[in-house]
Amino acid sequence: MNNHEPAATVESRSNNRRLVLFPIPFQGHINPMLQLANILYTKGFKITIIHTDFNSPNQSNYPHFTFKSITDGLFKSENRSLNLDTSNYVINFLNESCIEPFTVCMAKLLELEPVTCLISDALWHFTQSVADSLKLKRIVLRTSSMSCIPVYAAFVLGETSYFNTTVKEELALMTENDIEKIHKDRSEKGNEEVICSMIKETKASSGIIFNTFKELEEPAFSALSQDFHIPIFPIGPFHKYFPASSSSLLEQDRSSISWLDHQPVNSVVYVSFGSIAQMGEAKFTDMAWGLANSKQRFLWVVRPGSVHGSQWLESLPKGFMEDVGERGRIVKWAPQQEVLAHQAVGCFWTHNGWNSTLESICEGVPMICSPCSYDQPVNARYVTDVWKIGVMLDDEMNREETGIAIKKVITGKEGNEMRKRSKSLQEKVNKSLRNGGSAYQSLENLVDYILSF
Ligand code: UDP
Repeated sequence: MNNHEPAATVESRSNNRRLVLFPIPFQGHINPMLQLANILYTKGFKITIIHTDFNSPNQSNYPHFTFKSITDGLFKSENRSLNLDTSNYVINFLNESCIEPFTVCMAKLLELEPVTCLISDALWHFTQSVADSLKLKRIVLRTSSMSCIPVYAAFVLGETSYFNTTVKEELALMTENDIEKIHKDRSEKGNEEVICSMIKETKASSGIIFNTFKELEEPAFSALSQDFHIPIFPIGPFHKYFPASSSSLLEQDRSSISWLDHQPVNSVVYVSFGSIAQMGEAKFTDMAWGLANSKQRFLWVVRPGSVHGSQWLESLPKGFMEDVGERGRIVKWAPQQEVLAHQAVGCFWTHNGWNSTLESICEGVPMICSPCSYDQPVNARYVTDVWKIGVMLDDEMNREETGIAIKKVITGKEGNEMRKRSKSLQEKVNKSLRNGGSAYQSLENLVDYILSF
């Protein structure tokens, strides 16, 4: 058996029925979709993954799945380099360019054997009409939090209905700055279009799976249940079933773990802004000085190309590494889930992508929040004001203030309180996943539901 093949027993009740899964080709979407595929495999389903040429998953890690590749047209265009400024444009592009290859691929699969259901990322909104035309059921995987849908609906699409629901108090927590950040990409071609189509075609689907658990987002769950007249399955966190290491597009630097092994308990700030966020040189330099001024230990993921105009660390202030010495370590990409589970990690300075936020919650690690755009400002606001397990870093903070804020979370009383609340959320996660817990039951319901098709 391959290392990444699920070790859990494969149940027989699904009688080898085939599911086709279709991930959006970005790291934060590939990870949850392949984890979901593994979860459903252990429930006895046969799995086919349709994927684009761009960012195709490493098939050798999944010998138990069938893979089908489709052309995406990206390499013929200037859209090849993906970052935060272009991703909605790329998503719209892919939703056009993949229609024909995906339809052909799906039709061929159906000629070979029956397919019980298509599970596609919510951002693949075109797949609903393909599924309809092929008389195929489609379930959607939404890889963000549940709470971000009402926020998007209210503040991006201008829908007022959510203001009368269980989330109204949480909507009121959104600051002008949060909304401005969500809107930052309004100027970007296609943001509203993506969100509008995503919500419309999700409502037209047969059900929606979330990588979250009900207890974490109870008000959003009940608000969505009223608005979306389809079954909702919050069966996460997926990575608690299977780690994301096998779907990593970049090589994870294992030396991060051996370095952490030598650091005291709760002493290290882990810093990572995910797989697509980019920043200017000035922000990068300020982050470096903030870390240096905090005088705390840190493990910092600097993805090559994530600083505008730099290959990797050229923009680091002169003498920075000498100044921090053994106290700091910089890597290109880390085994993040293992890092967050390490006892040496005392807090996570994050951009609050949903996977990162959830991974931090699962390990009871408090957060320092620096959201950039998309759903990140929503996730960060929930972390700081709803769950109270993190602090928001003000964009206007200078290097000294940043250093003080970091130090407070690692060593201060406030940080300790946040750590306690975070540990209690971690316990809720574990309970939810156990036999009889809400995520456990939701997964059982999902399997029964698919088997009813
Ligand atoms: N990740 C990782 N190593 C790193 C940084 C991130 O494996 O050094 C993983 C992380 O565990 C998460 C994903 O990349 O599963 C990032 O997803 P997220 O939703 O947090 O952010 P995005 O990349 O979509 O902005």
